[in-house]
Amino acid sequence: MTLDRRTFLGKTVTCACHLALAASVMPTAARKVWAAESLGQVVAREAFGTLEKIADGVWAVISQPLNGDRTTLANGGLIAGKNAVLAVEGFNATAGAEWLAAKSMDLTGMRPTHVVLTHHHGDHANGISGFQMNGAQCAVHSTAVTRDIVVGRDAKTPGALAARTRALDGAVLLSNTEATSIDLGGRSVKVVPRGGHTQSDVTVELDDPSVVFCGDLVWNAMFPNYVDTTPSKFVGAVRGLKRAKDTLYVPGHGSLAKARQIDRYIAMLNEVEAGARKSFTAGIGAEDAGRTFMLSESVGPWALFSNVFYPRAFEAWYREFKV
Ligand SMILES: [Zn+2]
Repeated sequence: MTLDRRTFLGKTVTCACHLALAASVMPTAARKVWAAESLGQVVAREAFGTLEKIADGVWAVISQPLNGDRTTLANGGLIAGKNAVLAVEGFNATAGAEWLAAKSMDLTGMRPTHVVLTHHHGDHANGISGFQMNGAQCAVHSTAVTRDIVVGRDAKTPGALAARTRALDGAVLLSNTEATSIDLGGRSVKVVPRGGHTQSDVTVELDDPSVVFCGDLVWNAMFPNYVDTTPSKFVGAVRGLKRAKDTLYVPGHGSLAKARQIDRYIAMLNEVEAGARKSFTAGIGAEDAGRTFMLSESVGPWALFSNVFYPRAFEAWYREFKV
C-alpha cells in the first residue's frame, strides 16, 4: 500500500489510523518492536496479538496488528481478585472485548465484572460493549470527559452502535482529581487520573506486584501520536507514573516495558520538546521543522518512525508555545 504524504497526514487522525498506516509504511521496522523477547509468559497467541501472564492473576494483552487484524489494536489486560475480574480497555472491536472476556473465563472462572477505559480513542474504546454481550454484567469505569467524548462521537457517526452508547451512558464515573480504588476481593486496583495524551487519561495500577497499565501515556519503542496531546502535561504524566521500585509497565502500544524502556521513552520525548522549542524560537513553521527533525542516536531506534509523525508533535508543542 502506497500513500502520498498528503493522504497519509490527512488520515493519521486517531491512534488506530496512526498505527495502521504507519505499519503499512514501515512494516519491517515496526515488526521488530514486537519481535523482541517478551517480559511476560505467553498464554494465548492470536492473529491480532498475545495474552501474556505478568504476575499471579494479572495478564497483559499485547496487540500486534501489523498483519492487518485490528480486533484489539490497543494493549490492555486482566486483573483478577477472589470475587471479581477487572479488564483494562474496551479495544478496537467488540470481538476483541468478547475474546478477552472468554479468556478471563478460561483463566479465572469469571468473566470481567469491571472494565476501565483509559481514554476516549477508538482503538481503546470502540469495542467496550463486547464485555456486556448477551446480557453479561460488567461495570464500565471511565472519567466523565472520556464518556462524553465517546458518546458525542457516536451521536455524530451514522450507524454508531447503540450498545456502546448504552455501555458508556451507564459508566461509573472516575474522579478527575484523585485515585479511585476498585476492590476485587483480596486485591485492590488503583485508577489514577493523569492526562496529556488526551484531555483525560487514567492509568490502572497495582502496588504488589508493582504493575502499571499506562494507556497511551506510554508507547514502547514507537513514536506516539500527538494528535490530541498537550505535550507538557503528557511528559509530566509519563514522569509521574514511573516508580522507584522494580515495576512492569504495560504500554498502550508496543511490548512490555521496565524502567530502562521508560527512561529511553522519556529521553526521546525530551528531545522532541527541545527540537520543537529550538525551531519555534528560530521562527520555523511546525510542518517544516517537523519534517526535517531527527532524533539523536542516543535515544535508540523508534519503530514506525517516520518524519511524517514529527509535524504532529511539533504542532502540539507550538500550540503551547504560542499561549
Ligand atoms: Zn490514544
